[in-house]
Amino acid sequence: MPELTDLSVIRTLCEKYDFALSKGFGQNFIINPGLPPKIVDASGVDKTWGVLEIGPGIGVLTKELARRAAKVVSIEVDERLPPLLAETMAGVDNFKLVLQDVLKVDLRALIEEEFPGMPVAVCANLPYYITSPIVMKLLGDRLPIRNLTVMVQKEAADRLAAAPGTRASSAISCAVSYYATSKLMFTAAPGSFYPAPKVTSAVVRMDIRTTPAVQVEDEDGYFALIRAAFGQRRKTAANAIASGLGLPKDKSSRPSSGGLRRPHPPRGPDPRGLCCRTAGAEVRFYQNKTPRPPQSGTELRGLGRYVEGMEDGTLLTSAVRCGLRRPR
Ligand code: SAM
Repeated sequence: MPELTDLSVIRTLCEKYDFALSKGFGQNFIINPGLPPKIVDASGVDKTWGVLEIGPGIGVLTKELARRAAKVVSIEVDERLPPLLAETMAGVDNFKLVLQDVLKVDLRALIEEEFPGMPVAVCANLPYYITSPIVMKLLGDRLPIRNLTVMVQKEAADRLAAAPGTRASSAISCAVSYYATSKLMFTAAPGSFYPAPKVTSAVVRMDIRTTPAVQVEDEDGYFALIRAAFGQRRKTAANAIASGLGLPKDKSSRPSSGGLRRPHPPRGPDPRGLCCRTAGAEVRFYQNKTPRPPQSGTELRGLGRYVEGMEDGTLLTSAVRCGLRRPR
């Protein structure tokens, strides 16, 4: 089979099967021949591994994965692609295609059925329009996988790999760091793809933790808090969290039962601090104009927000690891 990264080969295949690349499905195929080996290197798989690929396209990365792993199962949503893949993957007997929307597949059942007893990795050049839902599904479903190595938009990669407390840190960074450790491996210029996207791409590897970074009493509550804390960045942390969690607002910052209230007894150097109880812990938020970071507090950097004080330290630890960090 001729080189699938060769544009004239891609065009001939497309003509033969009357296939036009779909923007809607985020189809930007790899045409840089150096990329597939580099992505597979980054994933660290070898002949003992099973690999789940999302979006094989015409099979550029798939072929390299099949060459280097024990078995590859690729999930593709575009019903026009199986005839092309039948040609490009002909004779590759450790490859299987699943024609479905990845967001609708029971991935646990699929992995258990296809890769019994094997270490499993996810490796993909993801459709950029659904990067976050795919990554959240892969992480949140607690699948029996060891790592994820994904090509995404550079901006999304920065968020997936953001270190705690950095500007790029966002709700998804917190979610990733809860389930995995992550690393930005390398970038790829727009010209590495056909058609060339408008933006630079990057590969991120996420290694799944055997247990989450921290123990939280109420996982749903914890993620709701994260989403609220990072949502509506124009609001103060207290107001963003109050509205995100549906807590009653207390504009005057006076004590109120339930929602945000002044800590009692007041702790830390800023008596204007507010606190709320969520996810089984007490979180204190210092209003945005706190002159000096509280000694024992944590700062949500880039937002100028301060969070302090847990009853049992649980959420504080989570927060510190997930993007809130102690002031220097
Ligand atoms: N792996 C190929 C490559 O690197 O050249 C193609 C990557 S392309 C960026 C993304 C692929 O994901 C396309 O084949 C697209 O049809 C597929 N895709 C898009 N949405 C999908 C979904 N919801 N489920 C499964 N595959 C999807």
